[in-house]
Amino acid sequence: MGMDTGALVDRFGRTATDLRVSLTDRCNLRCSYCMPAEGLDWLPTDDVLTDDEVVRLVRIAVEQLGVREVRFTGGEPLVRRGLVDIVRRTTALRPRPETSLTTNALGLQRTAAALAEAGLDRVNVSLDTIRRDDFLTITRRDRLDDVIAGLAAAKEAGLGPVKVNAVLLRGINDAHAPELLRWCIEQGYELRFIEQMPLDAQHGWSRTEMITADEIFATLEREFVLTPAEEPRGSAPAELFAVDGGPATVGVIASVTRPFCGDCDRVRLTADGQVRNCLFAREESDLRGALRAGASDEELADRWRVAMLGKRPGHGIDDVSFLQPSRPMSAIGG
Ligand code: SAM
Repeated sequence: MGMDTGALVDRFGRTATDLRVSLTDRCNLRCSYCMPAEGLDWLPTDDVLTDDEVVRLVRIAVEQLGVREVRFTGGEPLVRRGLVDIVRRTTALRPRPETSLTTNALGLQRTAAALAEAGLDRVNVSLDTIRRDDFLTITRRDRLDDVIAGLAAAKEAGLGPVKVNAVLLRGINDAHAPELLRWCIEQGYELRFIEQMPLDAQHGWSRTEMITADEIFATLEREFVLTPAEEPRGSAPAELFAVDGGPATVGVIASVTRPFCGDCDRVRLTADGQVRNCLFAREESDLRGALRAGASDEELADRWRVAMLGKRPGHGIDDVSFLQPSRPMSAIGG
């Protein structure tokens, strides 16, 4: 088709090898920094890729485009009925991609063993607090116990190292960051704090309200000694620190105040089959339409490569000209 076969390279020389696949835009929590309490329209069912369509696009990414890591996300990937089968078919691809899940862990207690058996390597669980009232305030659902049970089941099933992702909100859970870290260390989970990004459906993000990485360090250093971890960071978004001399670590993902776009190796596929070359992209490339119109694997791979050429050098959140993407995180896949 005129284009060189090969990897997903952009105009700035970055190569995407890490594919984030959103399996649904639906979720059973309503985290205030992500979704409104009610009134968000779901994607029409017919627009969402079928299991076979998802697996086909993942196969093309792995076999033809050099993708080595596949992470399923959403929305909440555990609410997708075909998840275990999709994972099984993904880990059967060659070269076998490292396969993981980003999840709120609701229901993971029931599915962790089946997911591990299907070949899932790891889970990242989102948990912002271990206080029941704060959990209810943030997620608008009283489900903390289910998350804690899901985390334990993931560890038990060997889906480790289990990572926990937390977003801090001013006046709600920010002061309790050390408590969450202590609990994660006790349980053997690797905690990473993520700066809040402008991705919520209600456009409620504010640069002055968000808790910055510097504030996170200041809060943690009241109770712990943090030293930069030895291992090189590479394209990993988290800056890692040893806690009290190690071996426990804590990560900080400073997407806003210390962006790492220059090392980005990610590309996203939305639940409705659109390639997004950046979480903050303002354009998407439609693979679903081409796929359903009968495109060959090679044609789909070419479209995907072309989609990478529009990837911008940085997300520009801190620029005055920044515009929030029109689709919220739950639709894009976090
Ligand atoms: N439902 C799954 C979960 O809870 O992990 C997967 C999707 S969720 C959108 C993925 C991650 O994005 C979660 O860790 C969540 O906390 C994070 N997230 C959502 N909105 C965010 C925002 N505005 N800023 C930073 N992180 C956000």
